[in-house]
Amino acid sequence: MKVLIIGAGVIGLLTARRLHHEGCQVIVVDAAPEGRPASWAGGGILSPLYPWRYPVEIQQLTASADQYYLSLQQELLALDASIDIEVEAQGMLVLEPEDAPEARQWGARQGVSLRSLEAGEIQRSWPYLKRGVEGLWFSECAHVRNPRLLRALRIEMIQKGILFSESLPVQAMVRSGDRLESVRLRNGNLLEADHYVVCAGPWSAGLLVSCGLELPIQPVRGQMLAYRDPSQGQMRAMVLYQGRYLIPRRDGVILVGSTVEEVGFDASVTPMAREALQGFAEDLVPMLRGQQPFAQWAGLRPASPRGVPFIGSLLDNLWVSTGHFRNGLVMAPASAELLADLMLGRTPLLDPAPYQPRHSLAK
Ligand SMILES: Cc1cc2nc3c(=O)[nH]c(=O)nc-3n(C[C@H](O)[C@H](O)[C@H](O)COP(=O)(O)OP(=O)(O)OC[C@H]3O[C@@H](n4cnc5c(N)ncnc54)[C@H](O)[C@@H]3O)c2cc1C
Repeated sequence: MKVLIIGAGVIGLLTARRLHHEGCQVIVVDAAPEGRPASWAGGGILSPLYPWRYPVEIQQLTASADQYYLSLQQELLALDASIDIEVEAQGMLVLEPEDAPEARQWGARQGVSLRSLEAGEIQRSWPYLKRGVEGLWFSECAHVRNPRLLRALRIEMIQKGILFSESLPVQAMVRSGDRLESVRLRNGNLLEADHYVVCAGPWSAGLLVSCGLELPIQPVRGQMLAYRDPSQGQMRAMVLYQGRYLIPRRDGVILVGSTVEEVGFDASVTPMAREALQGFAEDLVPMLRGQQPFAQWAGLRPASPRGVPFIGSLLDNLWVSTGHFRNGLVMAPASAELLADLMLGRTPLLDPAPYQPRHSLAK
């Protein structure tokens, strides 16, 4: 079975990997847009922020991502020792959540440890943080270094002979009744396959319109900053506070995220976001005062109405996996598995009904 995947973000790449593993002939085309895709821009946290607040459809897709990425890390290292995707099971300190009892109940039900910490204990263990805040310790929370993940997956794909093109935007999809016949590339060439999968992030909706289908996917910009660790290695845990977070990478880069902005397809960075994120970081970690972030960037998240992605078929041979909004890196492995099972006619482990895109097609 020949499958054409449109989009080489984390969703397209892990879907390609999975289908290749199942014996499909896979071709991936990517547009290489201006700026970076969300899969590069994101923080790589392998859990939704405040996971207990999410609907079960999202929790199901996020449950075992850390295990998946840990094994992927080993497989990719075996292929190329120079590329480490840096899965770090550092844990996350969740400061002053207003719903701590609900969080603990959720943790007890899921078998996830969420231990309450008093302000004094936090101060002793994380002396670089602002004083006087209580929190929860989410010890199992991990993150992956997503720009390296993308690079490693692309290298693996080329080594495995998955046909891959990084600068071939699909301009339109050519439909005949209930089937897709081909896709037209910007250079005018047509590409044909048995099945087509749209994983084009926030650009998915525009592509689908070209063959008369409307799916509610919108871009939502997220901006982030990066600092150098001023604490000489003390910062070794993620911290979530008032909806924003710090992520310490292994080499001393500290990420600060993120904004949530409905500004259409504008992936530029703004002084206002820089100021807001800087203010947050300096309040939380007073030793950052006076330091300048060395980088600022933005990505466009593919937002779906409730953050529940669309995974399934829209035509007999046209499939989508998109709309992962704020949780695409953590949901990518389970999304790829679900889509592969559906495409191969197998009964998936998860009930596919909540993700079925046909229900959401504009009438
Ligand atoms: C600031 C920020 C922080 C985030 N933090 C996290 C986090 O900590 N954890 C988490 O799980 N998620 C996080 N996310 C969300 C996550 O990054 C996204 O949900 C995920 O990356 C979406 O992946 P995708 O593959 O669907 O889309 P994308 O990464 O956008 O990839 C889509 C790809 O499709 C290609 N494409 C588009 N149009 C065409 C075309 N016409 N032809 C060919 N190719 C095309 C693009 O070039 C792009 O490479 C964050 C996002 C942002 C912006």
